[in-house]
Amino acid sequence: MSAAPGSTGPVVELSGGAVAIAGRPILRGIDLTVPAGEFLALMGANGSGKSTLVRALTGLHPLAAGSLRLFGTPYDDFHDWRRVGYVPQRGSAASGVPASVWEVVASGRLTHRPLFRRLGRRDRAAITDALEVVGLADRAGDGVSTLSGGQQQRVLIARALAGEPELFFLDEPTAGVDLPNQHVLADSLATLSGRGATVVLVAHELGPMATLVDRAVVMRDGRITYDGPPLTHDQAHEPELSARVALAHVDDLDPGHHHDHETVARHDHAPHVASPLDRPAEEDR
Ligand code: ADP
Ligand code: MG
Repeated sequence: MSAAPGSTGPVVELSGGAVAIAGRPILRGIDLTVPAGEFLALMGANGSGKSTLVRALTGLHPLAAGSLRLFGTPYDDFHDWRRVGYVPQRGSAASGVPASVWEVVASGRLTHRPLFRRLGRRDRAAITDALEVVGLADRAGDGVSTLSGGQQQRVLIARALAGEPELFFLDEPTAGVDLPNQHVLADSLATLSGRGATVVLVAHELGPMATLVDRAVVMRDGRITYDGPPLTHDQAHEPELSARVALAHVDDLDPGHHHDHETVARHDHAPHVASPLDRPAEEDR
């Protein structure tokens, strides 16, 4: 991961961020700065707003309020999406897609080349490297649908890695993934982090990732209630956390707003930063 010159400042700066969906406030008063090279764990209960925040930071959800800078550039002027990788929260996306592992990972190079240009040697090297990082080089020619859930998740990570992002968002990459696969993921992220990339990892449970984490941010009801040193699982899920750390701005919380655990149809659709398997496989390999 070649950190571009001048990328040593914060790579994410959101202040006063708010997101509303269908008129309903989902996120409020979000201040989040992520320095280059940090490994940040974004934690919190289901429905607390983690995925919405990640989508806001990748420009997939418009901000209702607040200002966002990426790599020091105001969001409206930021176009260098190749520097950003995103692995969405897994839905039904990966199942039954008749693409090979190699094709899916190759699609992660899209932003690196002009439209319709064939993959060059540099692209192929990045794809091979990404497959090696996630331990799937030997499965390159296999159909994605023949892989286990955990392996499919690694394909999605390799896809984002192939773009050689400097800032990498992963939304619950370990959910539903067995422990051996979680360890491979942790190793992959350690490699990425060791190359200097900034990682924002959404995780309900950190598992083997715990040792990689520099900083934890905990969300609750669309707000950040903790921002500080890494937490144990129990600490992150402690109900009194927000009161103890006193970071929550509870004064203006909407009393009618209860966080819910309902499952909502999600649009894991990423125009530039990635929704992996939602478009036809690249034809030119
Ligand atoms: P988390 O990722 O922490 O589980 P989300 O960001 O997915 O939380 O959701 C935060 C809140 O926003 C929840 O109340 C959820 O129901 C709501 N929400 C998320 N996406 C949508 C959507 N597309 N339409 C309506 N409500 C949504
Ligand atoms: Mg989520």
